[in-house]
Amino acid sequence: MTSCRICGGRLHEFGDFGTQPLSSGFLEPDYIGDEYFFRLALGVCASCSMVQLMEEVPRHLMFNGHYPYLSSGSSVMRKHFEQTAQHFLRTELTSPDAFAVELGCNDGIMLRALADAGVRHLGVEPSESVADIARRNGIRVTTEFFQESTATEIREAEGRPAQLVYAANTICHIPYVDSIFRGVDALLADDGVFVFEDPYLADIVDKTAYDQIYDEHFYFFSVTSVSAMAQRFGFELVKAERLPVHGGEVRYTIARQGRRTPDSSVAALLAEEKVRRLADLDTLNAFFRNVEKSRDDLVELLRQLKAEGRRVVGYGATAKSATVANYCGIGRELVSFVSDTTPNKQGRLTPGSHIPVRPRSAFENPYPDYALLFAWNHAEEIIAKEIRFREAGGKWILYVPHVQVV
Ligand code: SAM
Repeated sequence: MTSCRICGGRLHEFGDFGTQPLSSGFLEPDYIGDEYFFRLALGVCASCSMVQLMEEVPRHLMFNGHYPYLSSGSSVMRKHFEQTAQHFLRTELTSPDAFAVELGCNDGIMLRALADAGVRHLGVEPSESVADIARRNGIRVTTEFFQESTATEIREAEGRPAQLVYAANTICHIPYVDSIFRGVDALLADDGVFVFEDPYLADIVDKTAYDQIYDEHFYFFSVTSVSAMAQRFGFELVKAERLPVHGGEVRYTIARQGRRTPDSSVAALLAEEKVRRLADLDTLNAFFRNVEKSRDDLVELLRQLKAEGRRVVGYGATAKSATVANYCGIGRELVSFVSDTTPNKQGRLTPGSHIPVRPRSAFENPYPDYALLFAWNHAEEIIAKEIRFREAGGKWILYVPHVQVV
């Protein structure tokens, strides 16, 4: 791809991670065959400043009946979504006939609270495995990819528009945002809002959080690029709030053009991004030089520990860890296994790097000398939960915002 997926502007490439596997493509141990690989590289649009992947992975390869990510796995995220739901119940969903639609509702982590409050809701979730869990939890879900045709069908079937269309960690996964916005246009009440939250480009750059870059994350939003995108499709960005979750996100509130007065947060963040030249090629090239240094530091540390005869295991076979392991060339000779609580990852091999995934019980039996924390965005929660690892003399290796042992 050489032109912007949204506006057709010229794409300047600035970061190449080489060939990478599907981040959730865990393999059976006896798997012999071709894994799916694609070129993971980033570009920035010279016209609308959207940072995006240079190559698109077909959606059915990522979001299907084997999708392993379960939103409810983190207590921090459970609290975050409970608070999010309560906020919407107090603001956008106060009328008795309120209707809310969530795109990528996963296991129903947010919609559960709306269902408990008796609010009409619908989750749109293409990954059957997680949609089924939501359904078993009493959530209304349709197992489909959200796009214009899905939205039209929902609008017709429900016989009423939605006051709220919400999506967390989902819109940045969807290259075809033109169809998403046309769908939102078909579904949203005139005074309704489209709210989505996704990793923030400024946090990724500031923390050298390059593990946010993998097949599923197609866009890396900034307030500048989201504002331009909303405008392009007849909407307006009216609020932009920074969130601490997942290593730093922004929640964008979008309304139909002219329907709501933009909050001062939009102008403030637009100005900040302009001053720091967030989407300039110089800034993004400097980010990628930091990525290369982070990779070299991590590999050097792991090789040194191996030379000293230390035992290192990985903690959290996250989608994010696929880029780190494969880009840094970390295999089982440096990290003997990765411990993970997700049953359908256990007993398998990590994509591309082929490190065995073992259950949590393997982590403490016996504790390793070092644990490479792949789920760094949940570091506080995990380090507190695994207090006995440190008491036993264990040390954590983190690579965001820089490589360090804690
Ligand atoms: N919202 C949850 C959260 O924040 O924890 C789940 C986020 S998960 C990273 C992304 C979700 O988006 C997956 O459950 C995936 O199946 C879903 N998804 C991908 N493409 C979609 C689309 N076109 N419409 C709706 N959901 C989609």
